[in-house]
Amino acid sequence: MNLRKECEGAKRIGISGHIRPDGDCVGACLALSLYLKKMMEAAEVKVFLEEPSSVFESLKGFEEIDSSFPDEEPFDVFFVVDTVPDRIGEAEKYFLQAKKRTNIDHHITNPGAGDVNYVMPAIGSASELIYDLAEHDLLDQDMALCIYTGMIHDTGVFQYSNTNPDTLRKAADLISFGFDFPALIQETFYQKNYVQAQICGRALMESIRFMDGRCIVSVIDRKTMEFYGATPKDFEGIVNQLRNIKGISCAIFMYETDTLEYKVSLRTDELVDASRVAAFFGGGGHMRAAGCTMKGTFHDCVNNLSLHIEEQLMEKKQQ
Ligand code: 5GP
Ligand code: MN
Repeated sequence: MNLRKECEGAKRIGISGHIRPDGDCVGACLALSLYLKKMMEAAEVKVFLEEPSSVFESLKGFEEIDSSFPDEEPFDVFFVVDTVPDRIGEAEKYFLQAKKRTNIDHHITNPGAGDVNYVMPAIGSASELIYDLAEHDLLDQDMALCIYTGMIHDTGVFQYSNTNPDTLRKAADLISFGFDFPALIQETFYQKNYVQAQICGRALMESIRFMDGRCIVSVIDRKTMEFYGATPKDFEGIVNQLRNIKGISCAIFMYETDTLEYKVSLRTDELVDASRVAAFFGGGGHMRAAGCTMKGTFHDCVNNLSLHIEEQLMEKKQQ
């Protein structure tokens, strides 16, 4: 994909990413909007996202993110970033009406749903894709900060297996723009407020291991969310804490979204392909990190997930 060619002549450009936007989604959308504004000075560029966590407020353009999804004239080009277009919530109307629909993603479960698609499952973050698509001369410190933020969030600060030598070469280039990356990593990735730390502690304390200790699950119900005054943004990172426990091949974190409905997050080791499990239930993601929404009681959901996880663990055992 050539951004200059795809946007040629466009006067109005829109950008959106997935519901409940994470660091990669926010970083990639803001980096792309800063870039397009610089490349096409006369064009109007707008970003639409559900309200992101305030930890990202220092990123340039954060204040201009539109979370109210007003009616708009059709955009000349509309970019869906870091997901499939049916996971962008209210912004889907812009995608459907756009004169040119564009999809930039790195999820293996995305078949590419735009007129123009750039889907690269081998790349660790959507933000890294923006780096790849950008003309290097146009990059600046503000964009570098957004891209770097997305990279650290989707690679677990360059820990996960989606990090490769190229990722680190790009990261090296980005920090050469000179920003306070230790503070950025601490404040956007590791730091929790007191309530978030308490909920995480509670989720770990109430977790249950099963399948001979190879799986672990924890759930937060709506009563608990109300008690702490917590929202889904406060649960970021809990599933990784579960996955960090010795012997665990598959960690499941769930929270209640509605009566008999749960949002499910999966984190796995090399023995389980999380994207395959999530895709079976209508979700998606990556090999080691994926998610879906499931209906039923907590026990139904866990039983249904278990069947698929166990099947994969058995397959591996036979090999
Ligand atoms: P998380 O567990 O952090 O919400 O998501 C892990 C990964 O799976 C992310 O890359 C996210 O975009 C993807 N993912 C999570 N939930 C869903 C879902 O319901 N549908 C799809 N297609 N992807 C999901
Ligand atoms: Mn991503």
